[in-house]
Amino acid sequence: MKILFALCLIPLALFSYSRSTYCFDGKKLNFSEKEWKKRLTAEEFSVMRGGKEEAPDTGKFVNYTKEGLYECAACDLVLFNSKAKIAPEDGYATFTHPICPANVDHGNRFHRWSNAKFVTCARCGAKLGTIHYEPDAHYRIFSISLEFSPDGRPGAADVELGGLR
Ligand SMILES: [Zn+2]
Repeated sequence: MKILFALCLIPLALFSYSRSTYCFDGKKLNFSEKEWKKRLTAEEFSVMRGGKEEAPDTGKFVNYTKEGLYECAACDLVLFNSKAKIAPEDGYATFTHPICPANVDHGNRFHRWSNAKFVTCARCGAKLGTIHYEPDAHYRIFSISLEFSPDGRPGAADVELGGLR
């Protein structure tokens, strides 16, 4: 009987482990602008921490269909699962929801072209793209703000995409 009880706990333990693995733990990264300039390419910096936006239909993940996890390109926080990726909208990689609600912050600032809002990485504040609310809430994300990991291990995108980063 004790063994049966223990066996029942295993899936429960695995479930809670996977949740805590991907959900943002609340510890924010507060690097200076100078530090971010060292860590990011000039193009990454201009989109993720500056005022630029990725042009539509130019991102490497717009039509990408492999299964895996999408991380923040600046800090490796897991942001989206490929299971939540849908057909691209307006030329951007589009997701129905983040892997955990705590991992993506919704800004108050309205996007200048529409009623969308900017979304940012909860850990490092990198600008990720926009959320559109009609007809449903969809996240249109800049590919340059993402890194793809087929096995959930940070940095795997470098191999997967031939060292594009
Ligand atoms: Zn980040």
